[in-house]
Amino acid sequence: MNLLLEELDKAYPDATCELNYGNSFELLISVILSAQCTDKRVNIVTEKLFKVADTPEEFCALETDKLEELIRSCGLYKAKAKNIKSCCRDLVDKFGGQVPSTMEELTSLAGVGRKTANVVLSIAFDKPAIAVDTHVFRVAHRLGLSDGNTPDAVERDLCAAFEESEYKSAHFLFIHHGRACCHARNPECDECVVAKFCKYGSGAVNVPAVGQK
Ligand code: SF4
Repeated sequence: MNLLLEELDKAYPDATCELNYGNSFELLISVILSAQCTDKRVNIVTEKLFKVADTPEEFCALETDKLEELIRSCGLYKAKAKNIKSCCRDLVDKFGGQVPSTMEELTSLAGVGRKTANVVLSIAFDKPAIAVDTHVFRVAHRLGLSDGNTPDAVERDLCAAFEESEYKSAHFLFIHHGRACCHARNPECDECVVAKFCKYGSGAVNVPAVGQK
């Protein structure tokens, strides 16, 4: 394993997906809900939500008002409800109600961007993919692994930096490190297990602000 990932793996041996899901469809819905929301909150919401609707067909049949009410506490609930309804319509119309397993097909779904697709590919289908969220973006820059201005550019750099077999671990380890130590503001560099790899303290790294999808 890459030395950097080894150090992170020792620090965060339980780094894995924190969303609760039972199948690829539940994971897809959970990831859509997780935009600008904590995984903990999403899990609280989906515990109730999936008892009301648990298939694309059931979400299509669910009134938008009812769906908005069920997911309100996740934030951005009107946009998320609209995306979920459109996505489920596409799943039924184009994919027989099944979650597809390629990047091209996933990103053809309404409301599904590359980051969401990469999470589903990696976790549900065990394909080599690195989803770049705000934590992964920041940590990759600070560690000098990318100077890309967009999540797509950072994804390309990380894919080049690691072996395919390491992509899933890298994704979760960077997220956990970003949450636990390498905060956006006031990173805890004195406590950091990968400080020796880091370029941030030298002042050579400027993390661009970037919108995440
Ligand atoms: S040394 Fe600081 S900036 Fe660098 S990875 Fe560690 S916590 Fe982040």
